[in-house]
Amino acid sequence: MSACKKLLYFAKQRSLWTSLWRNVATWSPVGAAFNAKPHRRVDLFDKNVGLFGVPELSCPTGFHLTTKKALKNSETLVEKACTCPPGIETVESFDQLSDGLCKVADLADFVKVAHPDPAFREAAEKTCIEIGTVVEKLNTNTELCTSLKKLLDNPDIVAQLDPDTRRVAELFMFDFEISGIHLDDKLRKEAVALHVKLLDLSNEFLVGSHMPNRIARSALPEHLHVQFENEGSFIQIGGLHADSADDLVREIAYRIYLYPNAELMVCLEELLKCRYKLAKLIGYESYGHRALKGTMAKTPDLNNCGTVSTEIKNALHCTSILKTMATRYNIEPSLYSPYLSLGGCMEGLNNLFSHLFGVSFMSEHPSAGEVWSEDVRKLDCHFTIRGGRWCQETGQYQLPVVVLMLSLPHPTKSTPTLLTPGMMENLFHEMGHAMHSMLGRTRYQHVTGTRCATDFAEVPSILMEYFANDYRVISKFARHYETGQPLPENMVARLCESKKVCGAADTQLQVFYAALDQVYHSKPQNRSTTEILMETQQKFYGLPYAANTAWQLRFSHLVGYGAKYYSYLMSRAVASMVWKQCFVQDPFNRDMGERYRREMLAHGGAKEPMLMVEDCPSDSSNQGCAKPLKLQPPTDQILVIRSTVQLIGVELTIFVFMVPFEVTATLIIDQRRPTFEDFVNALVSELNPNFETFIMDSES
Ligand SMILES: [Zn+2]
Repeated sequence: MSACKKLLYFAKQRSLWTSLWRNVATWSPVGAAFNAKPHRRVDLFDKNVGLFGVPELSCPTGFHLTTKKALKNSETLVEKACTCPPGIETVESFDQLSDGLCKVADLADFVKVAHPDPAFREAAEKTCIEIGTVVEKLNTNTELCTSLKKLLDNPDIVAQLDPDTRRVAELFMFDFEISGIHLDDKLRKEAVALHVKLLDLSNEFLVGSHMPNRIARSALPEHLHVQFENEGSFIQIGGLHADSADDLVREIAYRIYLYPNAELMVCLEELLKCRYKLAKLIGYESYGHRALKGTMAKTPDLNNCGTVSTEIKNALHCTSILKTMATRYNIEPSLYSPYLSLGGCMEGLNNLFSHLFGVSFMSEHPSAGEVWSEDVRKLDCHFTIRGGRWCQETGQYQLPVVVLMLSLPHPTKSTPTLLTPGMMENLFHEMGHAMHSMLGRTRYQHVTGTRCATDFAEVPSILMEYFANDYRVISKFARHYETGQPLPENMVARLCESKKVCGAADTQLQVFYAALDQVYHSKPQNRSTTEILMETQQKFYGLPYAANTAWQLRFSHLVGYGAKYYSYLMSRAVASMVWKQCFVQDPFNRDMGERYRREMLAHGGAKEPMLMVEDCPSDSSNQGCAKPLKLQPPTDQILVIRSTVQLIGVELTIFVFMVPFEVTATLIIDQRRPTFEDFVNALVSELNPNFETFIMDSES
């Protein structure tokens, strides 16, 4: 299968645009633009504007210039932050300092993995390391820290700050603390050196974890060659091919893609060792303890993982019966793809966002040199190229720039790019991240959009998955690219039900990943990462470990999440709550969309996630609720719950977010502390299959 990596370019915000639903088989301008064959405009008179409009970046050497400029500018700002009288100006200088460096580092971070030209990638990587080193140094700069401390230690000045400014000041202080600002000179230098080494190792692991594995063509049955990417006498396997209907293809992909790479193994083990060393150096028990400081989970603890795992095993048992039934129904992705053209999906997103937020997309032809159109390497992620913030300098809002990078099939002569249901869901997910950045309106870039608490970062994107699985939403855009026929409702129902069949297993898998991430970031053990994986898998997951595989080498999230992978489960719980409270009644409700934007998306990390959840809007027309759906546990109850939160005890917190309101209301009235079982029930209830779909199908 030839999967090309396509750059979905900028989603630019435009003024309110109310669209009418279209029942004709033609696409809106956005849909048409994405279904058209991409063509390169060659215009010799076009001035190369540089990558993402940064003029210096019209050639790789520009990275050096841009870096130099950013570093020079940062010196001025450090000076300013250290000398200005303690007050709002201090925080503003900090934020400008951070913005100036992030702007360059984030862009380079993206280019180093995505650009097809190795010269660009290398230059970008250099920039990442250079700026990363400076950032680490700034995080241990005592003069800067003293300046901020002067501000935070003065209650009179703090009282005058608005809440956003205060929070941002505290967050900057937290960065100082976890960088070991309190250490003496010698140890502090050691900490900086470890940080630098970690940057290198992280980078190496990240790149390696996405590299395909290859095998001689002759080693595979000939009829399967066409299923994979062929390269000379080798076959490249760059993924698990989990969507393939062929058992053998999936097995081959699994065994080869996960075959251990010795070099990468050393890199990972070194990375974990360094992280532990650093954490110890600055006074934490383990890296996990350091990473979880400031989160709601607070400290790592694996005790409850087992309970969740057992409960889910029970759910698994029920669904395994269904799984047997499900195999009788064809949910083969290729049956769905013709209805899910890229243009159609973009149109669906556009319509959804214009209804919910009054925001619409415009497909724009990029200027010369702004982007490249060749293949880019796969990484399912969106990148913030520039965060949004109020620009004190110009009095205007600095608009964010976001890139979504997805691995999508090529269009052919006669067909547009067609997505499998999984790709469509992923597109919605990533677009959720993008909207988090695009719709953020924070005063400071340090807390804009996805620069929020890790526990909260996936909420907007997972929420989008609910939209992607709702027939009311799908029916608006899923039309056959040739005939214009809508995707039949029973096909959508079947697909959604089939997800529940694996839903319990997926959740269990997430528990396993979260646990593995915790064990890796606890005290070092005299065992290989593979041995640890085997043991953890056996404890927390239903399927056995396959010999000669090392899935951990594909666990690239270990770099970015490091001991906070559990956040995914937490975000999923919050997203489920937002969906139930705001959109389950009407996924196009403008009022709910507006309030969701205002109460959650706009704040980024400027507001505590817990407070956002409390302030989460509710659909008052929602039937069967005694009170409006706003979750209002008494404040002291929240505090009690928070203080008892442990790693998977995070669920106790999640529980507050998750349960259907009627139950919560009773709980509040009864003042009953939610039990662990309550949480697990809430989690598993999402997985309840709808037997009717299957019965209906088996009769038809
Ligand atoms: Zn995500």
